[in-house]
Amino acid sequence: EGRIQRIASSIRVIPNFPKPGVIFQDITTLLLDPKAFRDTIDFFVERYGDKKISVVAGVEARGFIFGPPVALAIGAKFVPLRKPKKLPGEVISEEYSLEYGSDKLEMHVGAVQPNDRAIVIDDLIATGGTLCAAIKLIERVGAEVVECACVIELPELKGREKLGGRPLFVLVK
Ligand code: IMP
Repeated sequence: EGRIQRIASSIRVIPNFPKPGVIFQDITTLLLDPKAFRDTIDFFVERYGDKKISVVAGVEARGFIFGPPVALAIGAKFVPLRKPKKLPGEVISEEYSLEYGSDKLEMHVGAVQPNDRAIVIDDLIATGGTLCAAIKLIERVGAEVVECACVIELPELKGREKLGGRPLFVLVK
């Protein structure tokens, strides 16, 4: 489809960032193309607008770019999932492993309720560790993760398999 093609070609690829050997997918160039950005949001809104989603959870930092316009359009709460020590209120946290070491995601207690139906949004899924931690945070408070949504998937890293069967929707592979 033409819209997907435009989104895909608006993503810039930067070799050796943030370290040698990594090929970084840079969505800041997608944001410079208002039609590609609009289409990206529209794809998510079309998919989730009629699924009774009550929470859009965005993963720091680029989930904070794509999540809020989707949440506003479908009438859902936006919940930021943040790196440690950024959220001021009481939090629950989930640790996840990186290639070297580990990191954590935190969520405010009370932001998500047991009866909520959530989607998790981020720019990209690589190994799936980040989305897996996001899912755990939401399910720990008794809510349902209906689907995860990313702009980009790196399928060779098999991150999809880490999501325990929960559906993943992506625009560009
Ligand atoms: P994962 O946990 O291995 O799936 O890595 C996904 C997380 O790392 C997401 O929060 C992404 O924003 C970030 N990430 C990993 N590789 C890239 C990339 O090439 N471009 C942008 N973000 C990336």
